Amino acid sequence: MPELPEVETVRRGIESRVVGRKILDVEVGRERSVRRVGKEAVVHGLTGTTMVAARRRGKYILCDLDSGDAVMIHLRMSGRVLVEPTGTQRPAHTHVVLQLAPRDGLHEEMWFVDPRTFGEVVVYDPRLEAEVLPELAKLGPDPISDRFDGGVLAERLAGRRGAIKPLLLNQHVVAGVGNIYADEVLHRVGLRWSRTVDTLSRKKIDKLAFAIREILAEAIESGGSTLQDTQYVDVEGNVGSFQENHRVYGREGLGCLTCGKTSIRRVMVAGRSTAYCPRCQR
Ligand SMILES: [Zn+2]
Repeated sequence: MPELPEVETVRRGIESRVVGRKILDVEVGRERSVRRVGKEAVVHGLTGTTMVAARRRGKYILCDLDSGDAVMIHLRMSGRVLVEPTGTQRPAHTHVVLQLAPRDGLHEEMWFVDPRTFGEVVVYDPRLEAEVLPELAKLGPDPISDRFDGGVLAERLAGRRGAIKPLLLNQHVVAGVGNIYADEVLHRVGLRWSRTVDTLSRKKIDKLAFAIREILAEAIESGGSTLQDTQYVDVEGNVGSFQENHRVYGREGLGCLTCGKTSIRRVMVAGRSTAYCPRCQR
């Protein structure tokens, strides 16, 4: 599932390839992708408009339109946004197509492709955001875009109980961290997934906040992580390369690159695969 670095990479791609180009025509194939507002609202809301900005909150891509409306794109499990020359054979599961005004003589389309159809495209009036997208107001701080440090994280963790890993995955605590980056962050700060939040000193929370920012920034720099399923690609169809820097995720049974003394273990935590080094993480 794409996490903050992958979503940010897609956002940057939309910014450079789609923002500023008029949307000439809109096709919606699978209505499930536009279930929240319906096909008519998406087709009418986008046709003839131009995206003027592409923003992001956690894993949500929010694009402003010159009409005053906005479009939210969420990739969820398997969504992809691709920009391809018009006439290119569309892959299976291409559910939404935006025909873009030609740029430099190039006719192109933006595709929303989503085999598992958990993803969404929503066109909405930003003044009604609280009603249409109520989950946005509940999101925790975005560790890249918002002012985010140990103080902010400590505040978000205050009054919460239990193991640290599920809390990092909770989008109300921090927006955008998912399974891969939670494991990598906990390894970098030497915390086991099961450490309870009440045992963390403020100094440790500062380190945790720093590592979240640091790892997400490094991953954005690498264009995100593409796993063996090669599900995630950027808008040009390129895979990311941060998986080459993973120290625990996807490395179970292999030697720990940090201590060199033991192998990475894998356990299931709250239904999610969790990788950690029993020696480095306590
Ligand atoms: Zn280790």
